[in-house]
Amino acid sequence: MAKLVRGFRDIFEPQSNQFTQLENCARGVFSTYGFGELRLPTVELKELFVKSTGETTDIVQKEMYAFEDAGHRQLAIRPEGTPGVVRAYLENNFVQNAPVQKFYYIGNMFRAERPQAGRYREFEQIGAEYIGNSAPAADAEVILMLKDIVAQFGAKNYVVKINSLGCDKCRPLYRQALIDFLSKEKDTLCENCQTRLEKNPLRVLDCKIDGARFAGRVPTLQLCPECQGHFDTVQALLKGKIDFIVDPMLVRGLDYYSRTVFEFQAGDVSQNAIAAGGRYDSLIKNMGGPATPAIGWAMGAERVILARGEQPAQPRKSVCVVSLEKPCNETAFNIMQELRAAGIRTEGGLFDKNVKGQMKQADRCHASYALILGGDELAKQAATLKDLTTGEQKHIPFAELITEVKKVL
Ligand code: ATP
Ligand code: MG
Repeated sequence: MAKLVRGFRDIFEPQSNQFTQLENCARGVFSTYGFGELRLPTVELKELFVKSTGETTDIVQKEMYAFEDAGHRQLAIRPEGTPGVVRAYLENNFVQNAPVQKFYYIGNMFRAERPQAGRYREFEQIGAEYIGNSAPAADAEVILMLKDIVAQFGAKNYVVKINSLGCDKCRPLYRQALIDFLSKEKDTLCENCQTRLEKNPLRVLDCKIDGARFAGRVPTLQLCPECQGHFDTVQALLKGKIDFIVDPMLVRGLDYYSRTVFEFQAGDVSQNAIAAGGRYDSLIKNMGGPATPAIGWAMGAERVILARGEQPAQPRKSVCVVSLEKPCNETAFNIMQELRAAGIRTEGGLFDKNVKGQMKQADRCHASYALILGGDELAKQAATLKDLTTGEQKHIPFAELITEVKKVL
């Protein structure tokens, strides 16, 4: 029998409804903040991610689904959204025509990670990118927008952490201080971190194995006056609107961040980040565009759904149309279509089955009413509406079907 690939999932109702609900919340909030949807391709040149996400990142080193196509192009199935957004922004010349852009995207991302709860090989991200605004107000805006989505969706138990990674002026000093500090502990680092140490020491703090044990001991970043001013303003703008913690250990796993970074975390498992993001003021320049500031985030839909927890089942009321004999099938079918056209959730149509079979189906699909049509009913141009909870039933003339069904559902 055909089998699912490890790390991938089939998502059925009611679980799939949670995704739709989250997406709808997000779309509503995005619209109030003036963000517009950008639908991105799933496949990009592999090089795009190597250059932007970063060569030393877990994503590029271990997690990317990369392949060569028949035209000998080196491609990758997207592991994240930001590089594609920036490519689209540059390629479509927004830089000249309309440099300030607010994009959002909703789509599946792919990473060859070890599957576990909250960590899948295909997962959904909802993301936002605010390009062209260097003001601290942009940082505060995207963080609050994220909070609004999570709050509207109803996830409650999470903390918001923020930090500043400084800029090209202040980070190199910190980088060196980190290398000096971590070199002393080199032997105790995991294999990965030993290589990261020289290339990207910040990443060691983000390591799922080693990271946490350095808390409180590592040197902290001394921000330059501009970065400090920026960070202070971001905090001032957030104050009173969202609870947050400044965490100097928050460094994020990607290469392109500068200044503000943030994470929304739920629970204390290693896959606890429900959403994360930050400023990436050098990325657009590094990708061949003019220096353009930007900030964004991505939310893991599965993790936000997990964080909200089990939802009470929402019984959806529907009516199931049952035909007692063949001559009634066509009328029964037409009634189904009329009910649907009136916006009523309508099941039925299993007319090859006998009454018992059709009633069983009504039960299986949790229909609250059955609308039964037999020869007698047809002759009288009426149908029997049966309440499947109480067993009560009444005759309803065809002309009144829609009004009557609407009344009880
Ligand atoms: P983590 O530290 O958990 O590996 P990350 O730093 O790799 O996360 P990002 O690349 O910043 O995550 O992606 C943003 C969000 O996407 C994460 O906060 C998380 O909610 C979600 N996410 C990332 N990887 C996965 C995955 N494999 N399965 C499900 N959700 C994921
Ligand atoms: Mg990861």
